[in-house]
Amino acid sequence: MNQTLETTPAQRDAVTDADVTLIVGLEVHVQLDTQSKLFCNCSTAYGADANTQTCPVCTGMPGTLPVINERALELAIKTGLALNCKIANYTKWDRKNYFYPDLPKGYQISQFDKPICGEGHLTISDAKAAFETRDIQIERAHLEEDAGKSIHDETGAKKPSKIDLNRTGTPLLEIVTKPDLRSAEEAKAFLTELKLILTYIDVSDCNMQEGSLRCDGNVNLHINVDGQKIATPIVEVKNLNSFRAAERAIAYEAARQLRVWKKDGLGIADAPKQTRGWDDANQKTTKSREKEDAADYRYFPDPDLIAVETTDQEINAIAATIEYLPAKLRTELMEDYSLEAYDTEVIVSQGIGVVKYYKTVADFLTKSASGLKSPGKTASNWVAQEVLRYLNEQNCEIGDYPVSGGQLGELLGRIAKGDFDQTRGKDVLAQMLENGANLEAAVEKLGIKTVDAGEVEALCQQIIEENQGVIEQIKGGKVQAVGSLIGKAKKLNPNINPNLVKETILKQIGI
Ligand SMILES: [Zn+2]
Repeated sequence: MNQTLETTPAQRDAVTDADVTLIVGLEVHVQLDTQSKLFCNCSTAYGADANTQTCPVCTGMPGTLPVINERALELAIKTGLALNCKIANYTKWDRKNYFYPDLPKGYQISQFDKPICGEGHLTISDAKAAFETRDIQIERAHLEEDAGKSIHDETGAKKPSKIDLNRTGTPLLEIVTKPDLRSAEEAKAFLTELKLILTYIDVSDCNMQEGSLRCDGNVNLHINVDGQKIATPIVEVKNLNSFRAAERAIAYEAARQLRVWKKDGLGIADAPKQTRGWDDANQKTTKSREKEDAADYRYFPDPDLIAVETTDQEINAIAATIEYLPAKLRTELMEDYSLEAYDTEVIVSQGIGVVKYYKTVADFLTKSASGLKSPGKTASNWVAQEVLRYLNEQNCEIGDYPVSGGQLGELLGRIAKGDFDQTRGKDVLAQMLENGANLEAAVEKLGIKTVDAGEVEALCQQIIEENQGVIEQIKGGKVQAVGSLIGKAKKLNPNINPNLVKETILKQIGI
């Protein structure tokens, strides 16, 4: 890496996209799902009246002493284990000193040189194969307390800003990746997978609107100029409040940095690290304050807190509480249920509740010897299309879905047996959703009866006689014209199995 390489405008103009590599590292703050704060007993519940969840400890009154919340430590270790991190047997607390109105203590308790979670990795992949499956290295994950919130007047009336200290002292896990991400899409995939893992292991609600998951990105470019690599100055992009914002901000920043470098030619050594914020309304990053160096925070060990020692036995006990991880479930669905990568992703991305539901449906179909070629695929089609659509429309969780996995499996078994077709099956499901989940009652209410073979023969005979024109077309080679006859048959008897009608008509006219 040559950081001081001088380039001429002509050299810079000649650079194309193929010469540019995007380098992205992420810092993700996750609010751990504890009842109380990291060093005091104040509630962490969201949405209370301002400054009603504070005490002398979290507001930093002289003479108070912080006491570590064991639960926060457990959740941090659990997260580290799910991210393949090395868990420290010895960790300590440091004061990160800075002045800001929403931090009355004048320092934040954090972890400087001995984080609870060391190096790890998270695997990203794309079901549509937009990029290759890769491990993104995690540098560390450390525990720290959150600061309060400054609420600025946005009415333009220049009223004084207000401070709400309810959030002060809430436990955060800061997860820092190495600069391993190479595109905005990869960054989005990393965040999506991270959120999924955190949800599966139940350590955070990951609600981005409420700030439970916050993300900053460190972005720069490596540019190849006549065989030499030049790095552009690193920019930290803040306020990435949604995955879409993260993806767009990184893509914007990549284009902006290339544009600026082509103009000024400045490399990483020529300019300090810059902080920019993402302006979602205008879809661009804007410059904010210069970034303090780590030294500016004057980290030193917190004299009020003792170091934390965790034995391997304790770490193993926490590991045993991790029941489900998305990567393992993906393998299971693909191997045990013969699902394709894309269908697997649709199910797994919905969380453990939907995965369990899907497995119940698929297991039912497999065990009931329904004769289906791929019961796993049939189950995934119905869960992905019918069940998830309902959950979306009703804005509810799988636990609220009125039809159980076993009941849906039973319904699909009846379709497989030929008792009624898919379209009629969807009517039955709608009936079950509306009037209680009883399958037989729904079938009865719709007046569905199994049509016996004699009835089918007679009905097909009638249709053939009444539609000689169409029959001639079919005999002339236009077999697809039979579709219109199936429609007529269904009008005469909605319970009739369309496949059987097709077979019977073709047989009767000797095709
Ligand atoms: Zn407190």
